[in-house]
Amino acid sequence: MATTTFMILLMSLFYIIAVMALAIRALLKKIDWIPIMAASLFLTPVGGYIYYTRCKKPKTIKLKRYYCRRCNIDFTEPIRFCIYCEKEGIQIPLKPHIIHSL
Ligand SMILES: [Zn+2]
Repeated sequence: MATTTFMILLMSLFYIIAVMALAIRALLKKIDWIPIMAASLFLTPVGGYIYYTRCKKPKTIKLKRYYCRRCNIDFTEPIRFCIYCEKEGIQIPLKPHIIHSL
């Protein structure tokens, strides 16, 4: 009797760990993790995994921005120096960086 209870507890623990692992994988993949967690909770983790593999990672676009580290402004146009800092007589060279946006 005690062995059966222990086995049920152990299987429940594995079930919950599998559900949480799928939710964390979805979260790291930047997919909506709540439907995956619900699917794996109600349709077993195998069903949740099938749902997880069918979800596609959201597409992002790469944008090139030019950031001034002195006044914390992002410029979309390629310019050599920050125009606001240049008005104060300081030339801050702008370095391009890539941001990912939805
Ligand atoms: Zn500036």
